[in-house]
Amino acid sequence: MSRFDGLALINAVTDLAELLGRRTTIDQFLADLVDTVADHLNADVCSVYLYDVEQDLLVLRATRGLNPELVGKVRLAPGEGLTGHAFLKNSPVLERNTEESLLNKTIPDLGEEQYPSFLGVPIKRGELGIGVLTLQYRSSEAIDDQALRTLRAIASHLAATLENAAALYEAQEIPRSPAGVETERFESGLLNGTSASRGIAIGLLEYLDERVNLTGSASVRRSMEEAVELSASQLGDLQKRVDETLSDVAMMIFSSHLLMLRDASFAGRMIELAREGMPPLEAVQVVVDDFARRFSAIPDPRFQEKVQDVQDLGHRIARNLLAHQEKDGDYRGHVVVARDVFPSELVKLHLQNVEGLAFCGGGATSHVAILAQSLGLPMVATADPRLFAIPSGVRLVVDAEDGKLVVDPAPEILEAYRGRLRKTRQREEAGDHAPIVSPVLTADGVAISILANVNLVKDARTAHKLGAEEIGLYRSEFPFLIRNGFPTEEEQVTVYRRVVEAMEGRPVCFRTMDLGGDKLLAGQIGREDNPFLGFRGIRFLLEHRDLFRDQLRAMLRAGEDREIGIQFPMVVSIDEFLAAREEVNRSIASLRDDGLAHNHHPKLGIMVELPATTEIMAELAAEVEFFSIGTNDLTMYMLGADRTNHRVASLYRSPHPGILRALARVTAEAIARKRSISVCGADAADPAMALFYLGIGIRRLSVDTGEIIRTGAYVREVGIKYAEETAARMLAAGSVEELGVVAGEVRKRFSENR
Ligand code: PEP
Ligand code: MG
Repeated sequence: MSRFDGLALINAVTDLAELLGRRTTIDQFLADLVDTVADHLNADVCSVYLYDVEQDLLVLRATRGLNPELVGKVRLAPGEGLTGHAFLKNSPVLERNTEESLLNKTIPDLGEEQYPSFLGVPIKRGELGIGVLTLQYRSSEAIDDQALRTLRAIASHLAATLENAAALYEAQEIPRSPAGVETERFESGLLNGTSASRGIAIGLLEYLDERVNLTGSASVRRSMEEAVELSASQLGDLQKRVDETLSDVAMMIFSSHLLMLRDASFAGRMIELAREGMPPLEAVQVVVDDFARRFSAIPDPRFQEKVQDVQDLGHRIARNLLAHQEKDGDYRGHVVVARDVFPSELVKLHLQNVEGLAFCGGGATSHVAILAQSLGLPMVATADPRLFAIPSGVRLVVDAEDGKLVVDPAPEILEAYRGRLRKTRQREEAGDHAPIVSPVLTADGVAISILANVNLVKDARTAHKLGAEEIGLYRSEFPFLIRNGFPTEEEQVTVYRRVVEAMEGRPVCFRTMDLGGDKLLAGQIGREDNPFLGFRGIRFLLEHRDLFRDQLRAMLRAGEDREIGIQFPMVVSIDEFLAAREEVNRSIASLRDDGLAHNHHPKLGIMVELPATTEIMAELAAEVEFFSIGTNDLTMYMLGADRTNHRVASLYRSPHPGILRALARVTAEAIARKRSISVCGADAADPAMALFYLGIGIRRLSVDTGEIIRTGAYVREVGIKYAEETAARMLAAGSVEELGVVAGEVRKRFSENR
C-alpha cells in the first residue's frame, strides 16, 4: 500500500462532517465519507454500518466497493460476522487471515469474498455503540498500523457527528421519503405507542418538517400576491380567535408569521421570484429553505422555533396558492407527525385545526402531552421509527384512547373509528356533561372532593362548568413555556385573575412555576446533562428570586379577596419550604409597602414528588399546611424511569409495591397530623389507583378537566369499604405482577362505565 497522509484524511473528514448540516441527506454525507476514506487509504472497500437501536441491528448505510444495492438492506446482529464482532469490541478488529477468516457470514451478493483483509473500527460515544467503520483490501498486506490508527482517529472524531447525524436522519431524511430512494415504506398496519392525551383523530398524514415540500410543477390557482394577501387575512382571523379562547398563553402567537409576511426579503422575495418567472411553489420553497437555513445556523435554540415558523408560513402560502377554498391554508383534515414540537407550536397547530398528532422519539415531553390534553388534541407517542416511513398523504388514525396508530386502515376499521368519533362529537354537542356536585358522595356516603388540574385559563372555565370544587393544581408555567419568556408581574396578574374569576369564588391552588426538567424555556435556562435531576422547580425559583417574587406577588394580587393556596414543586427538604415561605412573607410585605391589594393569608403547601420528601413527612407537617401528591414525578423518581421515555413506559405505568407503600405512609402521616392531602398526578383518574387512594384515606382527587365527569361518576359508584379492602390487597402484593392482577380486576369491573 502506498503511504498516505493521515492528517490530510482527518482534515478531509472534518470538512465533510461540517458539511453535513448543509447536505440534503445523511446518505449523501456517508457516501462522501466512504469515498474520501477509501481514496486516502487506498482501500478497495470502505463501508459504514450504523446501529439501529430499535431493531438492535447494524445496518449498512454506505459503501464504496461492495454492492451499492444492498445499502440499507444488509442488517447484522451485534456480534454477527466481523463487523458485528467489531461493534461489540472497544478496539479495532483486524483480520488478515484470508483462508480461515472470521467472515463467518458471507452475505449473498455483497461481494465481500474478494476482499478478505478486513479492518473494522467501532464508533463509540462513551459506552454507547453508534456503528462500525470498515476497510477491506484484496491483499493481505494492505493494512498497516498507520491505517489502523488513522481509522481509529476518524471513528472517534466522527462519533459525535454520527450521533447528531442519526438525529438528523430521523428528523430530516426519513420523513421526506425521498423519491427514488428505496427506503422501506410503511404503507399500512399498526404502530403501537402510548397515549399522550385522549381522543381519536383521523386525517391525512403530514410531516411537520415537510410542510413546503411541494413539487414546483403542481398547478396553482392563485397568484403569489393573492396567496400572500389571503395568508395575512387568515392569520389576522386566527389571532382574533386566540383572543377569545387562549388569551393567557397565545397573545400575539402569530406575530412572527405576520411580521414575515410583511417582510420584503420573505414574502416580498417570493413575489419577486414569481414575477421573474419562477414557478410560484418553487419560489416559496426557495425562500423558505433559505430562511430556514439561516435560522438553523444560529446556535441559540430559540431559533429552532423560528425555523418552524418559517416552514409553517411557507406551508400556508403554498396551500393558498394551490387551493380553491377560501378557508384553506390550515391543517383541517390532517394529522401531523413530528419528532418534537414546541408548546407554542402545539397551540398554533391547534388553532389551525390540526386533527391530531403522532410523535416518535423524545417529542412528547410531559408538558406537551399535558398541553395536548388541555387543547383536546389526540396525541400518541411511539418508539417505532416506521412512523417516519409512512408516505405523507396516507390516512392515519391517531387512537389516543388505546395508544395506537393505524396506518391506512381497512374500510371497516376506518368506519368503526368514524363511528366512535361521531359518537364523541354528538356527546360533546349535546352538552352531555351534566356537572358533578362536589363533594361527591361514595356509594356508602363518604364525601370526596373532586378538584381540577388546570393548565390554561380555558381549563379553569371548563373546571367551573363541570363542577370542580376547587382548582387543586394550577400549572403556572404554561404561559411561560408557550410564550417562551417570563411575563411581567402585571401580565401574570391578568392571567391569574382570569383563573380566579373563572372559578367564581371557589378556591384556587396556584403552583409556582415548575420549570426545568423537560419544561424548558428555549435558550433561557441552559441545557443540562440530566435535566430531571437538575435545576428544576423550587431549586430554580430559589436561585432566581426576582422571578420568584414577581410570580408570588402576582398570585397574591390575583387572589386578593379569595381563598387561595400556593404550592411549591419539587420540594425535597424542609429547608426549601422555609426559604420559599420566607419569600412569600417578603412578597406580602412588599405589596403592603406598595399599597397594592393582595391576599394576606394564602395557604402554603408542597408537592410530594421526590422520594426523600416522603421520609420527612413529620417534620414537613409541622410547617406545611397541605400536601399535594404529584405521582407523575414521584413515580419517575422512585422507579428511576423517565416519564417521557417510551421505552420504559410500561415500567412507569404499572403500579409498583414500593410506591404504593410510600403513598400509604405519606397519607397516614398527613392525616395523623391533620394536614390536608390530595393526589394530583394523572393516575388520580385511573380507576384502580383512585380506588387505592380512597382506600388509604385520600379524600381529595385533583384530575384533568377531561376526567372530572368520569371521576365523579366513578366515586359515586364505589364504596369506601371496598376501596379499603382493595387497598389492603394492593399493599399486600409484593410484586408488580401481583399488583397488576388486582389493578386489572378493578379496571375491568369499572370499565363499562368509563
Ligand atoms: C406530578 O408530578 O404528578 C404533577 C402533577 O406535576 P407535573 O405533572 O406538572 O410535573
Ligand atoms: Mg410534578
